[in-house]
Amino acid sequence: MPAAGYTTTLHIRLSAPWTKHQLVNHQQSTMKVLKFGGTSVGTVESLRNVKSIVESADEPVIVVVSALGGLTDKLISTARVAAAGGDAYFADYQAMVKRHHDIIEGIVPQEKRQQLYVIVNALLDELGNIYKGVSLIRDLSQRTIDIIVSYGERLSSAIITRIISDARLFDSRYFIKTLDQFGKHVLDNDATQKLVHATFDNASFKVAIVPGFISTDANGDITNLGRGGSDYTASLLGAVLGAEEIEIWTDIDGMHNNDPRYVQGTSPVSELHFEEAAELAYFGAKILHPSCVLPARLNNIPVRLLNTMEPQRPGTLIHNMPSTRTIKAVAAKDNIIAIKIKSGRMLLAYGFLHKVFETFENYRTSIDMMATSEVGVTVTIDDEKHLAAIVDDLKKFGTVTIDHDMVIICVVGD
Ligand code: ADP
Ligand code: ASP
Ligand code: MG
Repeated sequence: MPAAGYTTTLHIRLSAPWTKHQLVNHQQSTMKVLKFGGTSVGTVESLRNVKSIVESADEPVIVVVSALGGLTDKLISTARVAAAGGDAYFADYQAMVKRHHDIIEGIVPQEKRQQLYVIVNALLDELGNIYKGVSLIRDLSQRTIDIIVSYGERLSSAIITRIISDARLFDSRYFIKTLDQFGKHVLDNDATQKLVHATFDNASFKVAIVPGFISTDANGDITNLGRGGSDYTASLLGAVLGAEEIEIWTDIDGMHNNDPRYVQGTSPVSELHFEEAAELAYFGAKILHPSCVLPARLNNIPVRLLNTMEPQRPGTLIHNMPSTRTIKAVAAKDNIIAIKIKSGRMLLAYGFLHKVFETFENYRTSIDMMATSEVGVTVTIDDEKHLAAIVDDLKKFGTVTIDHDMVIICVVGD
């Protein structure tokens, strides 16, 4: 829960995977983790900048990479087209093949291409066969989607390893582990920490390339950390290995004071407290994955948001320094559902809120915000999977009304 003073909102997450006890790392290291998102690895031009940024690092670096910009969306939409049957998916698939080949032709040194084509074409052939299978049986399970999206980071990391000098590939499927909880993949904290140490503690590297986002479960089946999850991969590695700094390189010069996709004339915020950054990320600032702040914060590892296309810009430094007494930024999150429970019995009754929260906990649904009054309580959620069942259960405590299409506006600062 955020410290008082950082935000106007109050929210409760029922299933945070990290606890301070599990996370604190006492290892000291002169190593940085650099993460390059899809927006940084999508074109030959941006990949040239990635190469020069990474190669100019003085210390060893772990470089976490996303799939080529927009590719994860494309992998999913093509899967849906395939699942409708026929070969309509094939043109999209071929465009993906061409996009990877064009990147290789555009930036990979000639002497590394032949060996790389063997690897990349094997991955692309596998992907093509999976699409073909989906189109034949016209069935697309979550497990198949998880497998399909994994090709994005597997391909990009194989290519980027051949672009950057002295780079070595470390496959995150062997050290980022997830558990299944109520149909969702959540981080397997203990297994991940052990495997990350086993992989990196005695490894020698100047540049370790790691595919972001992807992971495996206890059976070795491919899973992932959720959309935008490469930030989380970077933060986990930085936290577990005690990195000096975690740098998130993207297409904008840091966290802006409002969402630049909707608001004109926004400007970057130079410094944020971890809690301020977590609030903004959770409430819609897409530049940062919401889970990525906590591991860094618990280990007090600064996170810097930087612009790959303008690396000299200062960006945003996220750290543990006290906040200045200003409003720093605004974020917004839409598709919010507000649930109002009105109850005459609530007045002066203890245990009422406990019962309300327990209902949400039973359905593993996180409450983002709440407001109470003498006669009722309103909570907001963004996941409507169990809405009907939750409402049924809440009716035991009072009259329940629901508002869809609501927005949370989050004002962060002190
Ligand atoms: P990446 O592919 O590098 O992970 P993302 O698209 O996930 O990049 O995040 C960067 C984008 O986040 C920016 O291009 C910007 O449009 C969006 N964004 C939303 N809110 C903010 C904000 N407050 N500050 C900066 N960028 C923001
Ligand atoms: N490629 C994944 C996605 O688009 C993960 C990431 O880029 O962070 O969601
Ligand atoms: Mg992102």
